[in-house]
Amino acid sequence: MLELNAVTHIYPNGTRALDDVTLSIPKGMYGLLGPNGAGKSTLMRSVATLQTPTSGTIRFGDIDIIANPEKLRERLGYLPQDFGVYPRVSAYDMLDHMAVLKGIASARERKETVETLLNQVNLWAVRKKAIAGFSGGMRQRFGIAQALIGNPELIIVDEPTAGLDPEERNRFLNLLAEIGENVVVILSTHIVDDVADLCPRMAVLAAGKIQLEGAPLDLIAQA
Ligand code: ADP
Ligand code: ADP
Repeated sequence: MLELNAVTHIYPNGTRALDDVTLSIPKGMYGLLGPNGAGKSTLMRSVATLQTPTSGTIRFGDIDIIANPEKLRERLGYLPQDFGVYPRVSAYDMLDHMAVLKGIASARERKETVETLLNQVNLWAVRKKAIAGFSGGMRQRFGIAQALIGNPELIIVDEPTAGLDPEERNRFLNLLAEIGENVVVILSTHIVDDVADLCPRMAVLAAGKIQLEGAPLDLIAQA
């Protein structure tokens, strides 16, 4: 369970990107829906401990993530919106390298991890190809593979379907749904259909405030 309590974020120029956000996010797929500029990325970066809220608290299980960001990072998988480093190294080598950075020191354990992930995201056949040559869908699936290194308990995915064609989008969302059976997955998006089909619960964010929270079908019924 991820719990945000009265989280406010004010940027140095005075923009109030998050305004008193209180949310409880259970295990499973959770949709964070909102238009551009709503504050979704600010919320995602705050939960990912990449920036510190101006005020409020964020807890993951028994971890106060603002006081102990390093404890959260061990359990976090993050696919940022601008995940855009597509180097000339192969998918296999890049994942292996990222596994080193995540602290998987044993070469044998890394081999097992990297092979399992490449199969899970359906990139085994292209593991020796440079990521620079991947399609949008392949890049996002690679992005999920890197987010899954080390079996995170909290996975944050920011606007992942932008630029994907319908088939790639479905493939990607189905992959997320499989992953979301066991952990907390927060899917941030401005596309209603991304959350409507997949997420048992969701919140609507606009102008930094939570406007609605609940099960998508209930929210649609209220609207
Ligand atoms: P979303 O991800 O929903 O598009 P963001 O969190 O990126 O929303 O932005 C929320 C608001 O904060 C917007 O008004 C945006 O212009 C502003 N904003 C985002 N980043 C910064 C920043 N570094 N400095 C100032 N304002 C920012
Ligand atoms: P190469 O293309 O370099 O000959 P292989 O495909 O024969 O490599 O396999 C290299 C290693 O990857 C071997 O240890 C093999 O067991 C393992 N491997 C092959 N296919 C898969 C797969 N689909 N999933 C996981 N591991 C695999």
